[in-house]
Amino acid sequence: MQYDVVIGLEVHAELKTNSKCFCSCKNESSNIPNTNCCPVCVGLPGALPILNKKAVELTVKAGLALGCEINNTAIFERKNYFYPDLSKAYQISQLEKPICVKGALEVNGKTIRINRIHLEEDAGKLVHSADGSTLVDYNRGGVPLMELVTEPDLTSVEDVIEFLTKLRQIYIYSGVADCLIEKGQMRADVNISLKPKGSNELGTRTEMKNLMGFRAIARAVKYEIERQKDLLDSGEEIQQETLKWDNDKGENFTLRTKEDSQDYRYFPEPDLLAVEIDDEFVEQTKNSMPKLPDELKNIYMTEYNLSEYDSDVLLQFKHVNDFFIECVKIYNKPKTVANWITTDIMGKIKTEFGASPILISPQDMCYLMKNVDDKKINRINAKEVMFLVWDTDKSAEAETKRLNYIIDMSDDLVDGLVDKIFTDFANVVEQYKNEQDPKILNYLVGQVMREAKGKANAGDVMEKIKNKMN
Ligand code: ADP
Ligand code: MG
Ligand code: ZN
Repeated sequence: MQYDVVIGLEVHAELKTNSKCFCSCKNESSNIPNTNCCPVCVGLPGALPILNKKAVELTVKAGLALGCEINNTAIFERKNYFYPDLSKAYQISQLEKPICVKGALEVNGKTIRINRIHLEEDAGKLVHSADGSTLVDYNRGGVPLMELVTEPDLTSVEDVIEFLTKLRQIYIYSGVADCLIEKGQMRADVNISLKPKGSNELGTRTEMKNLMGFRAIARAVKYEIERQKDLLDSGEEIQQETLKWDNDKGENFTLRTKEDSQDYRYFPEPDLLAVEIDDEFVEQTKNSMPKLPDELKNIYMTEYNLSEYDSDVLLQFKHVNDFFIECVKIYNKPKTVANWITTDIMGKIKTEFGASPILISPQDMCYLMKNVDDKKINRINAKEVMFLVWDTDKSAEAETKRLNYIIDMSDDLVDGLVDKIFTDFANVVEQYKNEQDPKILNYLVGQVMREAKGKANAGDVMEKIKNKMN
């Protein structure tokens, strides 16, 4: 049978605040377990939570970036459950009145509706030791966590990956979260069901909890779609259950069967007042929003005339885009700057999973780019200088001068060198006249440039050689 795939996501992201959500403990990972903890975040009797205003502001920012409505009154609730990583036996979360509702994100030409974004606290971490015992580290407990819930509008693995990629970029650009995947700062629960092709009725779904890393997520989603297909094809029913993906084995395991929000006995958190978010605060937050990738892409393509490909490369990593913007401020030639960044710099910093820092200053980079444009330095030499000063405190200008790379050879001298090469390489010149092969021409240019020790302009040399051929 043919099926439609239906997917809804719940995405958790740790907010970039200095302190935790309801106490003043540091929000930062530490190698020493149970050091960023206090009576509030581990839930000792009598300890009272105080809401971190910054966490609310960042959640509002995320909501605005995703076109959400912001509720003027938001409420915190207790979600009751026991698990060793949650010493309080309840999590402060939001159910009835979250901070943000009704947003949207465009993915693969479709609108994915966002049901809500709420603020809650993260749980601690269980650390399983080799001897079979389990330790618990509460450092992460109480870290502000934003949970975004989509409507079941995604229909494929590609949608899931594109949604998460775009969302991550938006969070990073708006400064609400770093979303470091390897640190578990962004995690997704994926709800999947199948229905007969064209049917309007949703099928029974399963939920895969706490997936991390785009590759693992893609594998898990593919696996679960196939598993459900096989079951349905053999006439069986899908059980509504929560699954745990084992990325090493490449399989799903049942964690627990059917669970509903009512199982958690949510009730209003008696120790926290309702949060009043007035329109003025929302307006101020809106005005403090930086430009987001879609808006920047539009500027790059229409005002700077960059290609879509180059724009995407510039925007893929925020630190690369920041560098681009800084360079354009100093040297207002976006095309030149984009060209250097998308080729030479990306070639240098691209890693398997991301991009390492750019270890040359925008000033040094602009010195080189401008002088190449002005035909004062050959591009090959500029590139050499770029790598020489990379990750050092040498200046591009000083290195260029030390290496004698400033083009200052007089026309007469260059003509003299061209004449010399025509004599020394007479047979090659003949060969070029017969074959007109550009490789041979480049070879001759290279010979002149070698004689000139980089102090002639390669473009000019080529022109001179061509003229002399006629
Ligand atoms: P709960 O409150 O039980 O967690 P929700 O209604 O909040 O359930 O839905 C949780 C997630 O599951 C949402 O992302 C939603 O889009 C998705 N979802 C709901 N029903 C289905 C379904 N039949 N198939 C796929 N995803 C679904
Ligand atoms: Mg849920
Ligand atoms: Zn604390």
